[in-house]
Amino acid sequence: MNRLPQVKQNKIFTKGDFLIMAVALIVIIAIFIFSIRPMVTGSTVEIYESGELVHTINLSKNESYFYEVASGNNTITVKDGVAYIEDSTCSDQLCVKIGAIKDSGKQIICLPNRLRVVITGEGEIDAIS
Ligand SMILES: [Zn+2]
Repeated sequence: MNRLPQVKQNKIFTKGDFLIMAVALIVIIAIFIFSIRPMVTGSTVEIYESGELVHTINLSKNESYFYEVASGNNTITVKDGVAYIEDSTCSDQLCVKIGAIKDSGKQIICLPNRLRVVITGEGEIDAIS
């Protein structure tokens, strides 16, 4: 009788199990870190085209940036400490519907135009006054 398959089955952790547990642990830690991290108002608006930084706007400024690609265009507006996509020619209009963002780490993505608007840096924490 060959006992090898039996021994293999009784092993507590296989490589696959370990990998699943490692991934699960990373996800749990990521959720934990994200949930305890206080929301901080950002200071800078970064605009990326296909992952490449094309424009930066100070969040404290009032400025509109017209962004044009072959598939259409977007108007990104920074006003009164928030950033939003004011106008877009994209088919889904999701980037316009998402509204204004101001917290560091928040982003607006326009998939059809391959555009990403990200808030970075640290401005004033508006929870404390
Ligand atoms: Zn869009």
